Amino acid sequence: MLGGTLDASRLAQALAQAGVDGIFSYAGRTSAPIAQPLPTRVGGFGGVAGLQTFLQTERITHVVDATHPFAAQMSSNAVLACAGAGVPLLALERPAWQAQSGDVWHHVPDIAAAVQALPTEPARVFLAIGRQQVAPFLACAQHWYLLRLVDPVVDSILDLPAERGHVVLDRGPFTVESDRALLQAHGITHIASKNSGGAGAQAKLLAARELGLPVILIDRPFIPIRHRVHSVNDALRWLGLVGSY
Ligand code: NAP
Repeated sequence: MLGGTLDASRLAQALAQAGVDGIFSYAGRTSAPIAQPLPTRVGGFGGVAGLQTFLQTERITHVVDATHPFAAQMSSNAVLACAGAGVPLLALERPAWQAQSGDVWHHVPDIAAAVQALPTEPARVFLAIGRQQVAPFLACAQHWYLLRLVDPVVDSILDLPAERGHVVLDRGPFTVESDRALLQAHGITHIASKNSGGAGAQAKLLAARELGLPVILIDRPFIPIRHRVHSVNDALRWLGLVGSY
């Protein structure tokens, strides 16, 4: 299992309960990843070739890619490595969010376009995009930024003076009530988010709808075609286990 999402943790729980002989893999991006009930490894495999060797050495019979929909490099590597090793691959992927009445969404293809979509006049922006790609936003110095991160700031670029922004440390799932309060407490005028999908991360979008705030929504990156399901139960069925999660 390639992990790093709530669904990955749920599937790991179900596999452990079913007594499946599995290995859970984390990239190692967070300092204290959620403990899993399966044997766990941490760190990259070394590209396609490294993953293919791993699959063969560990005699893996099935791969479930339950990484985040924006982890395009890992997912593309999994497609190629599984094809090379002759191992069936399933993607467990949350459906993308769809706009509903009351949403003010601006769809953009990538981070650069999201930066461009911000107004020219100073705005107070909730950057709900993790820590890896904040630099291009921070380069637009007229805006004030609210960052929500899992780990304490160790990177100096994220060590923002109060007049440039603020960092909150929190890990989802989040609620609409708490996200509405967060947006209001910081006077947020714009939200920039990846279209991650899933209920826990959607709270900010529902809160934005209630408050009438515009959302710059970054579309998902390209990933080569692979077999996909949207639910843990469907992943269990693909593995030949009766889904009852
Ligand atoms: P990425 O750009 O697609 O991956 C970069 C490299 O990190 C991969 O080529 C691989 O290294 C390693 N890697 C990624 N996921 C791995 C895993 N589950 N197990 C082992 N190695 C992994 O990925 P990313 O966007 O940096 O995301 C890293 C992790 O954070 C993923 O597990 C993802 O589920 C989670 N995450 C990402 C986001 C996001 O917005 N991107 C949001 C929430 C959670 P090698 O090539 O050396 O194998």
